[in-house]
Amino acid sequence: MATNSEATDFKTGFTKGYSRRNRMVFKNNFGWSISRESLFDSCKRAYYFHYYLSWGGWNRNAPEDSRRAFKLKRLVSLPLWRGQLVHYIATKILQSTRSKKRIPAEDDVTSYTIESFNKQLNFSKEKRYRYEPKKIRGKLHTNWLALRDHEYGIDIPPRHIEKTRGECLKAIKALLESPILDKISKTDSSKWVIEDIDFSEFAQSFQFEKTTIFLKTDFMFRSNDGTFNIVDWKTFADNPPSSKKRDLGRAGDQLGIYGYYATAILGEPIGNIKMYEINLLDAAREVVYTINKKSIERATKRINKGIAKLASVLTDNDTEKNNPLTYQYFPPNRGNKCKFCNFSIICDE
Ligand code: SF4
Repeated sequence: MATNSEATDFKTGFTKGYSRRNRMVFKNNFGWSISRESLFDSCKRAYYFHYYLSWGGWNRNAPEDSRRAFKLKRLVSLPLWRGQLVHYIATKILQSTRSKKRIPAEDDVTSYTIESFNKQLNFSKEKRYRYEPKKIRGKLHTNWLALRDHEYGIDIPPRHIEKTRGECLKAIKALLESPILDKISKTDSSKWVIEDIDFSEFAQSFQFEKTTIFLKTDFMFRSNDGTFNIVDWKTFADNPPSSKKRDLGRAGDQLGIYGYYATAILGEPIGNIKMYEINLLDAAREVVYTINKKSIERATKRINKGIAKLASVLTDNDTEKNNPLTYQYFPPNRGNKCKFCNFSIICDE
């Protein structure tokens, strides 16, 4: 339980405390999310670098390897950057629609997208991420970007930059012209929940038994008929599900976690929830899912199993202490993905 000198930051799940010298310290709290488990499954060594070795690496007095891992974990690829920028602009479109009561003009949004794109690209090219903080007083530096290619000294062909810029603009145009944005704009904006991208990587977190679960809904709104809607902007082109009996895979897991959150935490009736996947790189193609009891049960099992899996690499499986076993328990999983891994430079050391 939080004491007078200790408080839990709801957005990040970190516990803030104060040492005797009144200096703020952070504890690396255990948590679970789909992306965390997915990194664990993909490569345990990368998981170790990302969630443990990098911990405290923002501190000038931290050990050198922690500082390096911390710097590396923040690198992104071109496709990941594209997704981040599109999500950021989508958030701004929704905020503007809410405050001005109309969808912003395409020309204005396009100029802002290009300006943000260029500023971020230059920031990364100049390697300003090496010395400029990503957050100032908890708020994200809007143009902060660290591309893996720039840090690793890899030339990015201009056509790749152009392609990425074009995809960002295509995605934003698709969103502005989409039926879902039109539908959203006609609902009560006081009930909108817009991803707070300026302050937090994860929009929501909740307690599941003793573990903090992180999830990231891009946007939530209530339709005029009372339906509660969760929207996920997708910026990766993939094939649409072909039949009703599809294996939803990761989308199914995400759906279940969102459903769990909406029912168990927000108190929405199961039959009243819809989840929209909007593929912005495919003309804002909509895939709509409904939630049922099965998906909630599946999510509960998935979370329980996931927590046990991540706890298996902690001393005494103790998630309260969250002390990792030695790094030998986090073997590297070498393969093609190493070429794109943020940590490849330290992996062999
Ligand atoms: S370089 Fe490969 S093996 Fe090493 S941490 Fe990255 S993904 Fe894992």
